[in-house]
Amino acid sequence: MNAPLSTKLYEEASRIFPGGVNSPVRAWRNVGGTPRFIVRARGATIVDADGRSYCDFVGSWGAAIVGHAHPKVVAAVQAAAAAGLGYGAPTCAEIELGRAITQALPAVEMLRMVSSGTEAVMSAIRLARAFTRRPKVLKFAGCYHGHSDALLARAGSGAMTFGVPDSAGVPEAVTAQTLVAGYNAIDEVRGYFAAYGEEIAAVIVEPVAANMGVVPPQEGFLQALRELTLASGALLVFDEVITGFRVARGGAQARFGIAPDLTCLGKIIGGGLPVGAFGGRGDVMTLLAPLGPVYQAGTLAGNPVTMAAGRETLALLDDQAYVHLEDLGRRTEDGLDAALREAGVGGCVQRVGSMLTLFLGTERAHGLVDIERTDRERFARFFRAMLERGFYLPPSPFEALFLSLGHSEADVDDLVQAAHEALQEIA
Ligand code: PMP
Repeated sequence: MNAPLSTKLYEEASRIFPGGVNSPVRAWRNVGGTPRFIVRARGATIVDADGRSYCDFVGSWGAAIVGHAHPKVVAAVQAAAAAGLGYGAPTCAEIELGRAITQALPAVEMLRMVSSGTEAVMSAIRLARAFTRRPKVLKFAGCYHGHSDALLARAGSGAMTFGVPDSAGVPEAVTAQTLVAGYNAIDEVRGYFAAYGEEIAAVIVEPVAANMGVVPPQEGFLQALRELTLASGALLVFDEVITGFRVARGGAQARFGIAPDLTCLGKIIGGGLPVGAFGGRGDVMTLLAPLGPVYQAGTLAGNPVTMAAGRETLALLDDQAYVHLEDLGRRTEDGLDAALREAGVGGCVQRVGSMLTLFLGTERAHGLVDIERTDRERFARFFRAMLERGFYLPPSPFEALFLSLGHSEADVDDLVQAAHEALQEIA
């Protein structure tokens, strides 16, 4: 556990950055101790400033699906960088990545590149409001859609980690147009449509929730959202920033067979570099400037280095890759399930494809109400016990573990063995 150089660096970082970090969950407030400063990573291994190696199950929060610094991705980035870092003008690289995305997600007829998931969702919501000429947005408790004002209501991820469901600095008038229902609670959604149907521009959902830990949609949930939005004239927006190219090549919309009107992407499509994208129905997307009245722009959007990293990453994700990721996911789930049982620790493992969460202190998690019962203190001890054994897990009980093509079956078996010991230690 002792990491003297990381601790020293954290002290210095804390003088420069609030909380020592540039994104809150990185500060390890949920698990105690100080964060490791990472100096390099390759495949499934990350190395900190003290020279310690860890088997990484954060994977840059899901972006690193082909493993860290895959040689082909790095070569593509180097070639793109050598040609020029960006021009603020159209490039062929944008077309190549855009084509790969529209081919994988048929519901995305047209798209626009942006620089983060937050921007993608913010822009998709603006577009939905313009298209429907309605003001309200319905979201789900525990789903995180980035940190734009309107969506910081009952958000997951860092907002939840710190027990601040709404951020200070967001005017009530902004979130007043945001309705919040329970995840998987379709009757609540029906109630909102009955009360405000004519005012709802969009329903936005993580089609597999991953920002309160992994919570799969229950049978019929996404289908019911599709039917209700169609009946009312609202748009269905899938936030696939995590699930896109993760739970299937075509994302959750392919895995569950539901076509949304708009889709938000990020993470994987940037191959590890900053990115976001939103897209969907052509009749909606053509409302965007310069064709239509909805303004949206970005100086570095679609920059050629990111586009090259994304294109190369998506090229590595063939059918065989998804079979392998699914196998690794199942092996991890089965192993952790058995470890929980053998240690006699109450909890459960929830998984979709290559992302999963080990919840301690609750036997099921269908929505935020269940999640709030998890044992945070016990999770913190589990996290530290795993770190000591060389496993780098998300430093929060409300996040997903991500597997990648950089992981081997042996990595998974080692994780399970370590979890076995760690769970016994904290039992
Ligand atoms: N939507 C979802 C589902 C996310 O998980 C995230 C980030 N984890 C975002 C949006 C925001 O993306 P970014 O952090 O790139 O702004």
